[in-house]
Amino acid sequence: VTEPQGAPLLAVDGLNAWYGAAHILHDIGLEVRRGEVVALMGRNGAGKSTTLKSIMGLLPSRVGRLQFMGHAIDRLQPYQIARLGLGYVPEDRRVFTELTVRENLMTGRQAERVWPDGGAGLNWSLDAVLELFPNLADMQHRQAGTLSGGEQQMLTVARTLMGNPFVLLLDEPSEGVAPLIIEQMAEMILALKARGASVLLSEQNIHFAAWVSDRAYVLEKGQIRHTSTMAAL
Ligand code: ATP
Ligand code: MG
Repeated sequence: VTEPQGAPLLAVDGLNAWYGAAHILHDIGLEVRRGEVVALMGRNGAGKSTTLKSIMGLLPSRVGRLQFMGHAIDRLQPYQIARLGLGYVPEDRRVFTELTVRENLMTGRQAERVWPDGGAGLNWSLDAVLELFPNLADMQHRQAGTLSGGEQQMLTVARTLMGNPFVLLLDEPSEGVAPLIIEQMAEMILALKARGASVLLSEQNIHFAAWVSDRAYVLEKGQIRHTSTMAAL
């Protein structure tokens, strides 16, 4: 495995986070480089979701360094962070139940993004996204509220992709979804990577993580215990 070159797209150092008085994350440090897929692994309650939420500015936290593509993002609002090109798919599904699948996808749409150093831009057209998720293509005129939980999960991911993220944070993409959809999720992650974008995913399913990831951080009780290539895990 060759290490991708250049500054990390996402760099986190000394991240601490709390739920009320409970100190949940302790000095988390991690980085995600261009074109890398990185898994955050660990048991229930280890702090995977809390890490992703804290990166997005959704929790009270204190951090030494939180940088996305050279911007300090620790004082930004979640929507401002998303606008810079950091996509986030939370554990719970976020679809507009009254809108069709197609309309849901269009709500995620953002202008094409161009890498600061030039090169090919990121531009997920509706057609490209529907090609990645053929089930959604078949259901594009259905109301999102009539989709199953796994299908809504897939729609949430697909809508976030329409925002052309440079880095995508995915919380448990394989949880509660059928094998065929898991396969589409994996192909979507690899398609992002092929365009030079990166993914940081929280994942308990080691088979899925090993399939798509280059590296992993293992969390235990809110601390990173181990970092490793997938092959060595
Ligand atoms: P899972 O695999 O079950 O999704 P996780 O690794 O994502 O687990 P987190 O959800 O980050 O774990 O939880 C980390 C810790 O924070 C746990 O001890 C959990 O009980 C606590 N926690 C999570 N959400 C809340 C909340 N809303 N209020 C209080 N404590 C919380
Ligand atoms: Mg979680």
